[in-house]
Amino acid sequence: MAGASFAGLAHRAAQREASVMVEKTINGPSPLTIHHLGEQVLRQPARRLSKVDHGVRQLCRHMLQTMYSAQGIGLAATQVGVHKQVLVIDLDPETPSTPPRVLINPEITAYGGSVDSREEGCLSIPDVYLNVVRPTVIEVRFMDELGRKHRLKADGLLSRCIQHEMDHLNGVLFVDRVQDGEALQRELHDHGFAVSAVHAVAEQGHGEEP
Ligand SMILES: [Zn+2]
Repeated sequence: MAGASFAGLAHRAAQREASVMVEKTINGPSPLTIHHLGEQVLRQPARRLSKVDHGVRQLCRHMLQTMYSAQGIGLAATQVGVHKQVLVIDLDPETPSTPPRVLINPEITAYGGSVDSREEGCLSIPDVYLNVVRPTVIEVRFMDELGRKHRLKADGLLSRCIQHEMDHLNGVLFVDRVQDGEALQRELHDHGFAVSAVHAVAEQGHGEEP
């Protein structure tokens, strides 16, 4: 083993264990099954994690592989039938070197003053795209894959994606928030989903003046 010290090997092994980076391969390995609208598993709330260990990091790697394979930009553990408050996001899935974001036990601590309406889609409701109104800016606190605490102010697509994925952790799907009932019925019907699977959420007063 000339040239490779045990300390060096151990250090590299520790780095590998700490990283959740996986290859971003479309139609690649998909270790987990994504559940679809209509399956009860999507309606169950997720539990907070008390610690972040190698098992959680392995879950994150599997979630990321499954997400990249399906060409998504976000995935919540609920979607793969794991009821833990874990979500993964990568808004730049085409760049191999950009690290994904892992949010564990995310909590929104503040909403910005305005809302906007943008089209959303979901790996649990393939090919359905509909407009959803959400607050534009959020502040969120969470732990990363090493258990380090973070606070983040997000806007634009990142804000929307975090809110969409956090909804999953509460058993809420984006179609529950769609206000245009006609478009909702048409899109779901056209893609083989039952409208009865939608659980409309009441207006929650997001985006109120701070
Ligand atoms: Zn989704």
